[in-house]
Amino acid sequence: MQYRIHAKDELAKIGELIINDKKIITPNILSVNTDRFKAFDKADVILSNDIVKTNKPVFKFLQTPLKLDEKNFYHIDEKTEFVIIQYAFQLFERSKNFVDLIINLRKKIGSEKIIYAPVIAKPSNLALLCYVGIDFFDTTSAIIAARNNNMFFTDGEYNIKDLIELPCNCPICNNINKKPSELSFEEILNHNYYMLFNELKQVRNIIKTGNLRNYIEKKVKTNPLYVTILRNLDMYYYEYLEEQTPVVSNKTILATSSESFNRSEIKRFQSRVLNRYCKPSCVKILLLLPCSAKKPYSFSKTHKFFRRTILDTSNPDIIHELIITSPLGLVPRELEFVYPAANYDIPVTGVWNEDEKKMIKTLLAEYLSKNKYEKIIVHLPEGITSFIKDIIKKPILTCIDSPTSNESLEKLKITLQESIEGFDRIDRYERTKQNLESLACYQFGKNIGKKLIKDTKISGRYPDFRIIENNKQLGMLTKDRGFISLTVAGAKKIESSEKYWIEIADDFTPKGSILAPGILNADENIRIGDEVLIFRKQTLIGVGAAVMNGADMKKSSFGEAVKIRHIV
Ligand SMILES: [Zn+2]
Repeated sequence: MQYRIHAKDELAKIGELIINDKKIITPNILSVNTDRFKAFDKADVILSNDIVKTNKPVFKFLQTPLKLDEKNFYHIDEKTEFVIIQYAFQLFERSKNFVDLIINLRKKIGSEKIIYAPVIAKPSNLALLCYVGIDFFDTTSAIIAARNNNMFFTDGEYNIKDLIELPCNCPICNNINKKPSELSFEEILNHNYYMLFNELKQVRNIIKTGNLRNYIEKKVKTNPLYVTILRNLDMYYYEYLEEQTPVVSNKTILATSSESFNRSEIKRFQSRVLNRYCKPSCVKILLLLPCSAKKPYSFSKTHKFFRRTILDTSNPDIIHELIITSPLGLVPRELEFVYPAANYDIPVTGVWNEDEKKMIKTLLAEYLSKNKYEKIIVHLPEGITSFIKDIIKKPILTCIDSPTSNESLEKLKITLQESIEGFDRIDRYERTKQNLESLACYQFGKNIGKKLIKDTKISGRYPDFRIIENNKQLGMLTKDRGFISLTVAGAKKIESSEKYWIEIADDFTPKGSILAPGILNADENIRIGDEVLIFRKQTLIGVGAAVMNGADMKKSSFGEAVKIRHIV
């Protein structure tokens, strides 16, 4: 038995299990086969204690009682790649214990073993179970439901007596000419199998595109227990989820539920704006602006109005734009290409709920305690101004009705011009360089960010800037990544910081990419998408982009870990 991971989406993954030369894609569902319940004919793997005439792999039922650690509810099968959750059904109902067990188990065994949770999988919870990191399930719940005359659908199960029509076109339902209440056990069971396996394929498609979180936020709403599991996961295991979450991505975050606010991408962005980012030192006037539906903001019509108004003043580069938005909180203009600032979508009604108000107020108060300005201009709709003005000392309000009305923009123009009087003119080039330094601080942390930009020259046009030192390019900002990509010279400049490094084995020169087994050691703070400094025998030999996080690079026995950009 051999297991390989092909794709990861946070804790969920697509893998390939090879059993007797047969390939089984995970996540997957073992189909129970007994005298009374025949296995689903579309299943890839059979679960049976009988001798079954099949060319599919057959797993045997767990022979209980197993010798289990009393504290642990699982059994690690040393001969196979499987870890079996023994009392999954009972545990699942106790959401906090369930999350604790699965996550701590995963931390212990790493991502290269398969977790099998018997009995619990249904079409309504399969995505959530994959999201917490479970890979294998079985069809027991389909059988239990059928015995109770319950039909599976994607959002839950319905008793046949409550169905006036059959809302299904599966091969079973399609060939039936009777009332739902007259369905036989076999018909219900086979329908349930179709529903469960349809969902399995759907979930695998979604994991491959990296959109599982958007999908489960929608799916958990069908059952309070599922919401509780997701909330427990977000609440108690943010650090673990954050480790698995890329810092560079082009996936869109759909912030359509209150659970979206707890996503690790969102919380990490907020934390880095407060703890890593620092404003360009030359700016003196803060301008608070609303967000736009279009991303990046500056590509929208409304932000083009704001930009033009700023550029029409006699000292535009002394003005710093900070966008107030939900669920991200605060987005400084220099970070608008950074993930997920350029990649989220939220329904806008103009009315802010109490959680959003509290989030914005807390972030803004902390931001203003760390980043000092001479004047703060608030060009925001009344819906936001009303709850933030109290935390700003002497706010100057410029929004009359809507932020883009002629009257408001005129007032903004006059106010900006008045506010900049008396300050020295800021050079455009100097401001550009400081903007890049602020971004570098967000990306690498303050020390490395400042070190990288110090004594450099910046060339190119927004946003495609190049960082040059002694005629050598250190790196460039790319719009698609929103981050600075380093050259070897750039890596050299920051290597003494001892961050973002990996040490590879000394017996090869990598080409194209570095696989995990070639990595001896790595900085565990590396996230997927980060720049990586490649060392061999403690000498810097190249730079690349992380495909795995630093912890996985150390632990994994296969898979691409770093895509090489430059090698010396
Ligand atoms: Zn059906």
